[in-house]
Amino acid sequence: SLSAGAVLAGAARRYPDRLALTDGRESLTYAELYDRALRFACGLREHGVAPGETVLLMAPNCPWFPVAYWGTLLAGAVVSPANPAQPAVPLAVQLADSGARAVIAYPGALPSVYAADAPGVRFTVVVPGPGQGSGGAAPEAPAGRTVLAAGDLLAYGTADPVRRGPEDLAHLAFTGGTTGRSKAVRVLHRNVIANVAQTVWVRAAGRLYDDGGAVGVVRDEAAATPHHSAHGAETTLAVAPLFHAMGLIGMVAHTAIGTTAVLHDRFDPVRYLDDIDAHQVGSVGGSPTMYRALLASPASAGRRLESVRHLNSGAAPMDPATRRRLAGLFPEALFTEGYGLTEATMALAMWPLDAAAGTPHGTVGVALPDTRLSIRDLLDPARELPVGETGELWARGPQITDGYEGHPELTAEQYTDGWLRTGDIGRLDERGHLFLSGRAKDMLLYKGYNVYPLHLEDILAGHPAVAAVAVIGAPAAEAGEIPVAYVVLRDGAVATAEELMAYVADRVAPYQRVREVHFTDALPVSAAGKVLKTALRERRAARSA
Ligand code: ATP
Repeated sequence: SLSAGAVLAGAARRYPDRLALTDGRESLTYAELYDRALRFACGLREHGVAPGETVLLMAPNCPWFPVAYWGTLLAGAVVSPANPAQPAVPLAVQLADSGARAVIAYPGALPSVYAADAPGVRFTVVVPGPGQGSGGAAPEAPAGRTVLAAGDLLAYGTADPVRRGPEDLAHLAFTGGTTGRSKAVRVLHRNVIANVAQTVWVRAAGRLYDDGGAVGVVRDEAAATPHHSAHGAETTLAVAPLFHAMGLIGMVAHTAIGTTAVLHDRFDPVRYLDDIDAHQVGSVGGSPTMYRALLASPASAGRRLESVRHLNSGAAPMDPATRRRLAGLFPEALFTEGYGLTEATMALAMWPLDAAAGTPHGTVGVALPDTRLSIRDLLDPARELPVGETGELWARGPQITDGYEGHPELTAEQYTDGWLRTGDIGRLDERGHLFLSGRAKDMLLYKGYNVYPLHLEDILAGHPAVAAVAVIGAPAAEAGEIPVAYVVLRDGAVATAEELMAYVADRVAPYQRVREVHFTDALPVSAAGKVLKTALRERRAARSA
């Protein structure tokens, strides 16, 4: 049957003895992972979780995350993965939005879970966190809350998985909340299967080609030949948070092809580099923020990670300077970029970043199989713009989800006649390459001209002194809005605000010039690696108040 839980059943049947995951302390083969997930499912059902009910999952990347994820699906329930660092107040909103009946949490999340007002939640399952083996003592719960240890949940034996159909809900996935309130997206089983199939198709095939409007696949030997690592299977390093779309759908896709995952609960450059060598990791994925931090770390200087054959970047814009620098660190890797959003399960477009493959500079790829992209007039969205013109990106395809749980008014705003309005601004070229100019909510108007912060960020990221940068629009009396840059300098580098503004001014039309530069030690970023521009706008507003 076409359900996400069947993906693990398939991997357990085909690769029972292959290592599914390791965190360096605990390792599980696919047969062991499936057995544990089935037990977990039995335990959940024994405690009254009915098919179709929602279970909130709050854990960092650790072996119990996939156990709980698959266990919940195999019980026929809906998984709602939430940021394990979520404070109590937004967590209470997420619990209410998702209608969760049970919470699975690692010990670090329990203070929030216990403090959150959650009238619908019947019980909490405590799973050990990273490095806590299978024990893990739980902090004390408030009176009246039922708390179960994950280990105890495994004691009920196994039973056949509960069957779910393609139209059933698989996940209630929260958007990143980068532009406002985080929303619970209704991801159906068929959405998960479709997006996994779409991304695996592109990945396993090597690279897409396009030739005068015809798109197909060229097998790239380096990428298509599984690179047998220390574990006898292709190995990936999973450091992108599993609770977010990129990490989660990535995990399901890797399960579908029987990859071994090395789990890291947080990004630590030294551990990252050492584990790539120790496990002979063949594929890595992450956000540009993570790759920038990797390049900025002294630990990566002079390293060559030759086992890596495939590097994927996604979740936020990758700037050309970072891309070039990465090529030195990963000399053997095929570079791909994925573009998508939670409302599209995960991915809409994907493409090798390799300039050598004839890919035009700066594209995030072409539409995945079965996916249609359309550029709409910003003022008159019913109007589809011709090739080359910039407007809002709309998308349709089998990965487009079913809307927001409990918020039909938001669903009606964002989903129109089978199309998803992405809120991203971009253009398509005549061969279908998608170029993004940023998010509609980030765009600013300088004296009536559209200015795209992303363009300015790409330029500033190319300055040798700049380690990270974000540009926002700030209100200004005469101009309406002006571009303001927040800059993190490289260790030991010096640059003045005037110098950076002049650097941009040399490369853009006058109306696009950056009008203010502020230096900062670090940019506020979300767990998924997106710069939180709302926080920067607040910082700027506080400054001028
Ligand atoms: P919210 O919608 O609640 O504000 P969010 O946008 O962080 O949160 P996600 O679904 O995690 O929610 O993020 C999707 C957005 O991330 C996309 O709309 C796009 O702006 C950005 N994005 C994803 N991949 C890329 C990419 N490769 N290049 C540029 N931007 C990207």
